[in-house]
Amino acid sequence: MRFDHQAALRPALRGLPGYEPIEPPELIAARYGVAPERIVKLDGNENPYGPSPRALVALAAPYAAHRYPDPDQRRLRDALAARHDVPPACIVAGAGSDELIDLLFRTYVQPGDRVVIASPTFGMYAFDAELHGAQVVDVPLREDWTPDGDALVAAAASARAVFIPSPNNPTGGTLPPGLAERLIDSGALLVVDEAYIEFAHAPSLVERAAAGDPLVVLRTFSKWGGLAGLRIGYGVMPAPVARVLMHVKQPYGVSVAAEVASLASLEDCALLDERACALTGERDRLAAALAALGWLYPAPSEANFLLVRMDRGDALSAREALRRHGVFVRTFNHPRLRRHVRISVGMRADSERLLEALAAIAGELDAEGEVHA
Ligand code: PMP
Repeated sequence: MRFDHQAALRPALRGLPGYEPIEPPELIAARYGVAPERIVKLDGNENPYGPSPRALVALAAPYAAHRYPDPDQRRLRDALAARHDVPPACIVAGAGSDELIDLLFRTYVQPGDRVVIASPTFGMYAFDAELHGAQVVDVPLREDWTPDGDALVAAAASARAVFIPSPNNPTGGTLPPGLAERLIDSGALLVVDEAYIEFAHAPSLVERAAAGDPLVVLRTFSKWGGLAGLRIGYGVMPAPVARVLMHVKQPYGVSVAAEVASLASLEDCALLDERACALTGERDRLAAALAALGWLYPAPSEANFLLVRMDRGDALSAREALRRHGVFVRTFNHPRLRRHVRISVGMRADSERLLEALAAIAGELDAEGEVHA
């Protein structure tokens, strides 16, 4: 008998809905007849400034691309340890924080385990949970997009892990003070995903994670560092957890190029912080300008994006109409987000193009506000 790929498929993978990634901008542009130079890409929460100048110089200089990277990530872990003032033994780097999320599942989550999320949130946690046959326990955010602390703590008591971003993607809010402490004591592993923390006022929990609490803090170079395309992220965690993750991870997950660029970025922290600060200023300016249009309601955000509710049309028709103007924003297949778009913060000129496009499409959108199925 020959191999039957359908029968052999792991049960957890049958009917797996899959993660909905963003499409390459050139493809969308071609579909909508938009010239590539007209694209305003505000759908990926990327950094519009690009990589730091030092990272660009380091990438342009010769480096050992023909050699395998250091499987123990020594230079990178040392540099990150210095940045966060924690021991290198508490750090693990990966190909984006996505790899760290996957690694945590592979290390700690078994089929049937419960994993708590608070939706709407970053889709990768539920995707990985399903991939590993875990049960997703959703404790939805409240009406105002704040977490329901008591319900989360109660759900965590019978869960293996809790995954919460702070700031949350796509809503933009941070964890309220004290909630992390309560979740740390719940019996589950707490994973706080700080992908956007550089744009927030909230303090990072990295020191707490390194101090030995059952807490993993995820960070990335994709947003603050402008290196989304190179895939480099890391986690800060208790040293024994890091030891296991170093053992379980792919030996060469972080490429030499990613290592070179992230090390150079760490020498350019002041500039990257300035850029993050400029982006938060632009975010607040854009939020006010959107609200002034009278039909858009941005949620308060501590990240480099805004979740915007519309009281005309629906998210999909707004996305389509904006695409025809060359402006790309993110929508979500989530029942509470049918009238919301997520807009990444770009340069001031990007905001102007967005505002122009919104003014142009306002009339096209269904003024009755009927939500398409
Ligand atoms: N966590 C959150 C909350 C995110 O929004 C994203 C990216 N969209 C990631 C992690 C993944 O980041 P990376 O590029 O480091 O894999």
